[in-house]
Amino acid sequence: MIDTLVIATRNRHKVEEIRAILAPLGVTVRDLSEFPGCTDVEETGVTLEENALLKARAAHACSGLPVIADDTGLEVYYLLGVPGVFSARYAGENATYADNCRKLLRALVGVPPRRRQARFRTVVAFVEKGRELLFDGTIEGKIGLAERGGNGFGYDPLFIPEGYARTYAELTLDEKNRISHRGLAVQKFREFIATSGRSLP
Ligand code: IMP
Repeated sequence: MIDTLVIATRNRHKVEEIRAILAPLGVTVRDLSEFPGCTDVEETGVTLEENALLKARAAHACSGLPVIADDTGLEVYYLLGVPGVFSARYAGENATYADNCRKLLRALVGVPPRRRQARFRTVVAFVEKGRELLFDGTIEGKIGLAERGGNGFGYDPLFIPEGYARTYAELTLDEKNRISHRGLAVQKFREFIATSGRSLP
């Protein structure tokens, strides 16, 4: 039976998004900011799956509790999938969200809207004693011509989901969570826990 779940991140935006999706489960949700002894792991994997598992295993080892960790990449087709797994470090090791957005806009200067397609992909790793599982979520969209909107984080001001005229940063938390890469992956995890995942087989 899962009473408590740790989200293996200190990113307050991710925590807010994931908490809102998991609220119906009625599980106590904690995050890494409540475990000062758990240090960040280096994301040395070359896939989202590897990095999500690295983060989840490390947080499970140090908290002793069931954990989920997500790893996310923005894949721009014109750039052959870049920045992908390196999305956090696109503009350099200590790049800010603003640095990364600026670099992406520069890389796409002169590229018309019809060739600015991109997708966000998230892998959520769930690790508890005796099992490890992965859940994924993908959303197609395109990169805008300029940053728009003040909500969210990361590349949100540049990403326009398919079927929308607004960027992620112009959506409310609920709107983003219903359709987003992370939203879809965490919803899959929630359904799994709600139906079969509450106890070990
Ligand atoms: P992470 O390794 O999963 O933390 O994600 C890598 C990078 O992708 C982050 O530093 C953000 O720049 C970006 N990112 C992750 N999730 C989102 C999102 O939901 N919206 C916009 N950017 C995101």
